[in-house]
Amino acid sequence: MSKSDDKKLGMDRQITRRDFLNGVAVGTGGAVASSALPSFALEALAEPRAAQDKPGYYPPALTGLRGSHAGSFEAAHNVRDGKAPTKRAIATDTKETYDLVIVGGGISGLAAAYFWRAKNASARILILDNHDDFGGHAKRNEFRASGRILLANGGTWAIESPFPYSKTARGLMDELGIQPAALETKCYRRKVYRHLSNGVFFDKQTFGADRLVAPAPGGRRGGGGGPEEWEGFLKKTPLSPEARQDVHRLETEAADYFPGLTSDQKKDKLSRVSYKDFLLKVVKLHKDAIPFYQTRTHGLFGVGIDAVPALDCWVLQQPGFRGLNLEPGPHPRMGYTPRGFAAPKEPYEFHYPDGNATIARMLVRKMIAGVAPGHDAEDVVAAKFDYARLDNQDAPVRIRLSSIVVSVKHAGDAARAKQVDVTYVRDGQLTSVHSGNVILACWNMMIPYLCSDLPEKQKEALHYGVKVPLVYTSVAIRNWEAFEKLGVHSIACPGMYHHEMNLDLPVDIGGYESPKTPDQPILVRMERTPCLPGLPERDQHRAGRGDLLSTSFDTFERNIRDQFARVLSDGGFDTARDITAITVNRWPHGYAYEYNYLFDPEWPAGESPCEIARRPFGRIAIANSDAGAAAYTDSAMDQAWRAVEELHSA
Ligand SMILES: Cc1cc2nc3c(=O)[nH]c(=O)nc-3n(C[C@H](O)[C@H](O)[C@H](O)COP(=O)(O)OP(=O)(O)OC[C@H]3O[C@@H](n4cnc5c(N)ncnc54)[C@H](O)[C@@H]3O)c2cc1C
Repeated sequence: MSKSDDKKLGMDRQITRRDFLNGVAVGTGGAVASSALPSFALEALAEPRAAQDKPGYYPPALTGLRGSHAGSFEAAHNVRDGKAPTKRAIATDTKETYDLVIVGGGISGLAAAYFWRAKNASARILILDNHDDFGGHAKRNEFRASGRILLANGGTWAIESPFPYSKTARGLMDELGIQPAALETKCYRRKVYRHLSNGVFFDKQTFGADRLVAPAPGGRRGGGGGPEEWEGFLKKTPLSPEARQDVHRLETEAADYFPGLTSDQKKDKLSRVSYKDFLLKVVKLHKDAIPFYQTRTHGLFGVGIDAVPALDCWVLQQPGFRGLNLEPGPHPRMGYTPRGFAAPKEPYEFHYPDGNATIARMLVRKMIAGVAPGHDAEDVVAAKFDYARLDNQDAPVRIRLSSIVVSVKHAGDAARAKQVDVTYVRDGQLTSVHSGNVILACWNMMIPYLCSDLPEKQKEALHYGVKVPLVYTSVAIRNWEAFEKLGVHSIACPGMYHHEMNLDLPVDIGGYESPKTPDQPILVRMERTPCLPGLPERDQHRAGRGDLLSTSFDTFERNIRDQFARVLSDGGFDTARDITAITVNRWPHGYAYEYNYLFDPEWPAGESPCEIARRPFGRIAIANSDAGAAAYTDSAMDQAWRAVEELHSA
């Protein structure tokens, strides 16, 4: 792209696009020193006052590259690479002792602290997290636009799960006062977009021409629409005549591709073939039609239809299965998510304007006195948090941010030790604390590097899952008149850098008002899931992670502006004028890995990697949604509860 293209896109415009804390650029962490891990020399020094304790510290309002932001991972990567975590290899011993230290301040770590306190109200707990904010994936983005605040989820989108929330997870939600179904009825403002439709943007590189086509029959993800609707839609697309004909056949006809087989036999067959191969080899769909479907599975799985079993796509209401007459219900060879969605359950869903960051904020407000005003599941949304109170030395629960744990070691033999020493890097400085118990609620694949004493089989199991890389981007725009003019609120972009771009869901709650008219500023939510089609799922995630870690914010911004220009310029959108802020929430280690029976074996009960990985070890227990191999908030809570129980019953 030339300099003049850049100017037209607005790359030179003054929007907030860099990662600054209190006006100081966040560092990129320490370089390498020579000493080996994990035997750090200890030195008693006073810790300098941390950034989170200073006035004005408020990470939700930061824009630019967020999620795994600069400074949050470099020391951990050094440890992974067998190097010293930071330049200064002498650890400061704070002499602090706790009943429980929790590594990871996501929903699982916060829930573990809550459960522990329910058993022992006077317990002293320290939560350490490598990010500059708490919540883990459940992160809040805040924007200021024309005098109003706009909120978005930087990660976890909503309270929703394929399986019903367990008694434990639901009990916690009840204690917090969160009633998802009632909140949905009260707070959703669905009518705001009722005159707008879903659309599909066909891009030149993938489909031969740039074209926005709306309305898309049966919704952007497919699953519905009659023959006339499809005909009208398809003739406006740049798809080849053969592809159009085949898409029409797939979407509107009901053929039994496996006559003579029972429903169970058909399900088994579908579980052993990717949806892409099912479409190409069984349905005989023309290859030109594949790009229209390729990214349908990205949002849930982080990979395209080449790596998702056809059976899972049946549950997700993709086309091609109607004539098979499959009996409703799950099958043992389904992935976790589709297996849960295959059975009907009561509605238990709600999207807070900042996603499940609200759950994290409610947990913190419950445990740390004075951190935020208010008391219920609605007023928390607009409540401003005082980060200076998170790590108060007199408080029973403390949260220490920007602290990357690099070693967790029993003081002596794991079976007999009375104490665990925890060492972390903060501001380039190694620091140690001590605890009677430790819960590792962090990303499980990191644990073998922290606890070198774990059994080898357990380390291997901890390494098995490869977390799903994904990006949630929020773009603040001056108004949404272009969307209104084009008649769309939600656009699938199967060939573009971000495969989705949607106007934010309108939700009014606790004094927070979502934009209602097209002349108001709004957030556009975009999703990107980098992967490498054709490889097994875990290899695709590794490739996607590499892509995310090596992509600069400039590249993200240029691609975002290019996408807005191409999709919306017919509606009068001017990227240079109309984009006012961008936050790219980059999660190279995103969703917990869920097993995929196209590539993973069927393990005997109790022998799957996550079950071996989460075994307790002396005074150390393991939580996080990774420990359940299920990328959901309730899994994070359930695993926290199990870890707390294990340490209490030891
Ligand atoms: C983009 C995105 C969207 C999602 N949407 C949904 C959704 O809509 N609904 C849903 O139910 N689930 C969703 N999920 C899944 C989500 O991961 C879970 O819901 C849940 O929030 C996971 O919580 P957790 O505490 O287990 O893990 P995390 O939130 O990942 O928290 C673990 C924390 O530990 C930290 N950590 C790791 N290593 C270290 C270390 N060495 N030292 C210190 N800290 C460390 C991590 O950085 C992180 O902050 C989504 C996930 C992502 C990434």
